[in-house]
Amino acid sequence: MTCQTCGARTQRNLCNRHAAELVELVANRMVFDRVVLIGDAAATARPHVGMGIAKAGTDVEVLADSLSENAELCEGLRQFGRQRLPVAARAVSRAATSAHT
Ligand SMILES: Cc1cc2nc3c(=O)[nH]c(=O)nc-3n(C[C@H](O)[C@H](O)[C@H](O)COP(=O)(O)OP(=O)(O)OC[C@H]3O[C@@H](n4cnc5c(N)ncnc54)[C@H](O)[C@@H]3O)c2cc1C
Repeated sequence: MTCQTCGARTQRNLCNRHAAELVELVANRMVFDRVVLIGDAAATARPHVGMGIAKAGTDVEVLADSLSENAELCEGLRQFGRQRLPVAARAVSRAATSAHT
């Protein structure tokens, strides 16, 4: 088989130089004491669904809201994690499902 882009001999449609590996992940937690994961660092969905930027931006909005609603820092961070981890997991799952349908 040959690469569709450069014509090099390869095992797939694209050679290693022209095929970008897709990574998808969901962290087990978004909050680690006073450290927070947001955006792709917390959950990386396949890019074809075009939701990564909205997800990352909404993480920031919810984080700001959670911190302003809670006088205690760690409770604000935990509230953020409770709200956003299920959303992150759903985004990655939906992107994976739609990639195979
Ligand atoms: C090919 C492709 C197409 C995509 N198309 C879309 C699309 O159409 N619509 C959409 O919504 N999303 C799309 N996405 C997903 C989107 O780009 C990401 O979900 C989004 O950029 C995540 O934002 P982020 O701020 O979490 O991470 P990033 O945008 O990756 O920002 C992280 C930043 O941190 C910097 N950085 C990394 N390590 C360090 C370090 N050690 N020190 C300092 N800085 C560091 C990086 O240089 C980068 O600037 C696409 C992704 C890919 C790969």
